[in-house]
Amino acid sequence: VGGTARTPLEQAVRGEVRRDRPTLEGVSGDASHLTGRPSAVVRPVDDDDIVALVRWARTESVPLVPRGAGTSLDGESVPADGAVVVDLTGWNRVLELATDERWARVGPGIGNFALQEAVRPHGLFFPPNPGSWHRSTVGGNVATNASGPRSFRYGAARSWVRALAVVFGNGARARLGTRSAKRSLGPDLLSLVVGSEGTLAIVTEVTVRLAPLPAVRRGLVVPVGATVGTGAIAARLAGAALEGLSAVEYVDRATSRALADEGAPLGPADSAWLLLEVEGPTAAEAERRAARVVAELAASGVTAPPQPFDDADEMWTRRGESGSALDRRLGPRVREDVAVPVGRTDELLAELERAAAEERVPLYVYGHLGEGSVHPNFAVDPASPVAARLRERTVRAALALGGTISGEHGIGRLKRPFVEEELGPAAVGLLDAVKRWCDPDGILNPGKLYPTPRGGGRSAPSPSGAATP
Ligand SMILES: Cc1cc2nc3c(=O)[nH]c(=O)nc-3n(C[C@H](O)[C@H](O)[C@H](O)COP(=O)(O)OP(=O)(O)OC[C@H]3O[C@@H](n4cnc5c(N)ncnc54)[C@H](O)[C@@H]3O)c2cc1C
Repeated sequence: VGGTARTPLEQAVRGEVRRDRPTLEGVSGDASHLTGRPSAVVRPVDDDDIVALVRWARTESVPLVPRGAGTSLDGESVPADGAVVVDLTGWNRVLELATDERWARVGPGIGNFALQEAVRPHGLFFPPNPGSWHRSTVGGNVATNASGPRSFRYGAARSWVRALAVVFGNGARARLGTRSAKRSLGPDLLSLVVGSEGTLAIVTEVTVRLAPLPAVRRGLVVPVGATVGTGAIAARLAGAALEGLSAVEYVDRATSRALADEGAPLGPADSAWLLLEVEGPTAAEAERRAARVVAELAASGVTAPPQPFDDADEMWTRRGESGSALDRRLGPRVREDVAVPVGRTDELLAELERAAAEERVPLYVYGHLGEGSVHPNFAVDPASPVAARLRERTVRAALALGGTISGEHGIGRLKRPFVEEELGPAAVGLLDAVKRWCDPDGILNPGKLYPTPRGGGRSAPSPSGAATP
């Protein structure tokens, strides 16, 4: 894809077009090690401008890459060479807020943190809280179906999107979903776009559901002894359906040691830890609920006394700081993201340790244990052949245990070779058919998500030119 554009982009859209080197460099990558060479960045001014942009891109055979904050980890927002990056960070306003019905209509470029700040005074919050919530956008959260520690109780972004306004890759506009609290109308078209990584449509507006802010949120950091299986803990806590338990996070011993060395310990350095959050309507009720959680842990063999945090956000801030300390220590690395049935995390961790030992690469693991969602970090050059082998072994291990190749980060460029292994040929055929309708020329974020070579730009079947397929 690429070619010589006959109509300059500057004439096709009303929004600002930038081609200067610092701007292009600023959008050439994401939080992975991958990079691309975009030809321009455009900041569209409204939906009509996006329709005009899509029509131009189809005619000129130029890929478009919608972009929020660029924090994705598998190349989701890395532009194909020659692509025009569609910068939506300026679309960052709360357009409507219905506090009684608990929803907000927002621009896709609003930051997750900014949305939380806007709705907090009304006693509300947007539950998906990825580790990147200070930077990532709601549009990016929707396009990757992001989640975070509190998805143990609240679920991923998909559960909190009520409606979307979109411009498909064929130039058609649509409103998907409904503002009503429930609906029974065929298969869920809204859900097709959630998690589609900018490959089907550009999201121009998001209506999110909001939840009431719990009055009290306690944090608990609990050391886990070497002999206690993570799978047993996770299955017990998930199965007990404990009232108010909203996050069950895990940090392994290697990570805890590394954090202590960096001066950013979360607890005793020579132990793995659980980080738990318990919500309650009053302080007394939160204490009662936390005591039940501690009793349940004791029954799974976790008997060390927890370190309490009166305000869970204090604990998450410490956890965030420790993540930055780990980044400083390890630098670029393989940052994997898989999920398995909650009771099988031990088996996954054992296989990861075998793989790391065989390749002689240090391994650091943390993740959202309560959902079987695990982030293995292999301290090795992410572009090296060893890294490729470790990635492959990680996703195969997750699949063999009945899990998934991505728990929350998405597929991007790095995981697309494994999509068919998880979905099977029939489901991939359906995915391709959806892609062909939405984006007949393969202009939207080519080279991502779809198994090679499908969805990879011009290799996709291409009934070019028509406004609708
Ligand atoms: C330190 C760190 C911690 C993280 N922690 C988590 C975590 O806990 N949980 C988690 O799920 N992820 C996590 N991530 C990954 C990442 O932050 C999320 O995937 C996030 O949702 C991406 O948002 P973004 O605004 O940066 O999107 P971008 O990276 O800009 O884009 C991501 C994808 O969405 C598409 N997109 C963006 N906006 C639109 C739009 N308006 N219309 C259509 N497509 C669009 C892009 O084309 C791309 O495919 C983390 C990343 C970092 C660096």
